[in-house]
Amino acid sequence: MRYSALSLMTNALTGHRRWRPAWRDAAPRDGYDVVVIGGGGHGLATAYYLASVYGITNVAVLDKGWIGGGNVGRNTTIIRSNYGLPGNTPFYELSMQLWEGLEQELNYNAMVSQRGVLNLCHSDAQRDAYARRGNAMRLHGIDAELLDRDAVRRMAPFLNFDHARFPITGGLLQRRGGTARHDAVAWGYARGASDRGVDIVQKCEVTGFLRDASGAVVGVETNRGPVRAGKVGMAVAGMSSRVAALAGLRLPIESHVLQAFVSEGLKPVIPGVITFGAGHFYISQSDKGGLVFGGDIDGYNSYAQRGNLPVVEDVCEGGMALMPMIGRARLLRSWGGIMDMSMDGSPIIDRTPVAGLYLNAGWCYGGFKATPASGRCFAHLLATDRSHDTAAAYRLDRFRTGHLIDEKGQGAQPNLH
Ligand SMILES: Cc1cc2nc3c(=O)[nH]c(=O)nc-3n(C[C@H](O)[C@H](O)[C@H](O)COP(=O)(O)OP(=O)(O)OC[C@H]3O[C@@H](n4cnc5c(N)ncnc54)[C@H](O)[C@@H]3O)c2cc1C
Repeated sequence: MRYSALSLMTNALTGHRRWRPAWRDAAPRDGYDVVVIGGGGHGLATAYYLASVYGITNVAVLDKGWIGGGNVGRNTTIIRSNYGLPGNTPFYELSMQLWEGLEQELNYNAMVSQRGVLNLCHSDAQRDAYARRGNAMRLHGIDAELLDRDAVRRMAPFLNFDHARFPITGGLLQRRGGTARHDAVAWGYARGASDRGVDIVQKCEVTGFLRDASGAVVGVETNRGPVRAGKVGMAVAGMSSRVAALAGLRLPIESHVLQAFVSEGLKPVIPGVITFGAGHFYISQSDKGGLVFGGDIDGYNSYAQRGNLPVVEDVCEGGMALMPMIGRARLLRSWGGIMDMSMDGSPIIDRTPVAGLYLNAGWCYGGFKATPASGRCFAHLLATDRSHDTAAAYRLDRFRTGHLIDEKGQGAQPNLH
């Protein structure tokens, strides 16, 4: 079923009784060419590109819960490609370009809105760092503008420009950055994959791996029985360490909770995405009017999808420092998701030392914006056994060889990212 203005009108005239489910809720079969573990954005996008780009349609996506129940439906929806290091820049720009054509490609409204992402700076040193990052972006053909204080004031006059400790001195703006509706991205990829024959299997938890005599992975054990597979891809985000442990692997990843917050609906006030440069706070406004914001991860390891109160206070303090008017808004709801924090803050898309098992993990705070490129590159790896050019730096062995991609220069302290 294609979505269009005509189909909307026709269905409206018939009382909306003829819409068909967007994707098939399949039962697991005995075996597939490829099994992708995890029906988040990355797993579903991988299945979609396996089918649409590589013609591999004998694929299952297995999720222990429901699709969209993980981080893909819990994030603050920010998309951008304002990265500065060579390992990251082309990859995130590929993702941005895929976002720009995604809704037409999927025939699905993911509410991609390029309303701009503005990173504020509060000191000369930070301004220098942003100038460097902006220059690196422009050298890669990515849009970046360094704004002075007056230009920022014209965009967002409500900010606290004269804060005693953190006066705003300017900002780095990527106009093509913005937001996308997070759960619609999961549904859109699920629909595209399912249309091409992929089985999307919910409530199917992977509990172990099937191995042959050589130790190679040849399928998965699940709570709905064994499923054989030519290749198995892991895209389980915050559960990466636990699922990898089922195959005897120990990953350079810690799981931490990240919380998000939404205020009551307000009239339009925040023009795009704004990030505080002197603390961890980022904010945008949804089309319904709610202020959508977040901050730092909770400082201890956890597999619970809920956070603690000290971080709630910390995030709200960041908001108050940046835009004191936020103190008048009432908080409507908050929630948490489990982040797969890698030790250099950058992801892994690679084969593992176990034959037949492939890894997509380590997305930290930033995996939503990466969803299209991650799916595209993981599909490439699964289909060809070679890394996609733009993801060549995301090797698992970089933590052994020291070829880290430490975008923020904060080393092995994921709680500081
Ligand atoms: C509060 C919050 C705010 C964020 N904000 C942003 C942002 O603004 N911009 C941005 O770019 N990123 C953001 N992120 C990060 C981003 O959401 C994640 O990096 C990304 O969604 C992770 O990939 P995913 O969508 O595939 O993960 P998920 O949606 O978590 O998918 C993983 C799936 O694996 C399944 N699974 C786990 N174990 C098993 C098993 N044993 N068997 C079967 N299935 C299993 C889970 O049920 C889950 O559905 C944020 C995250 C959070 C929590």
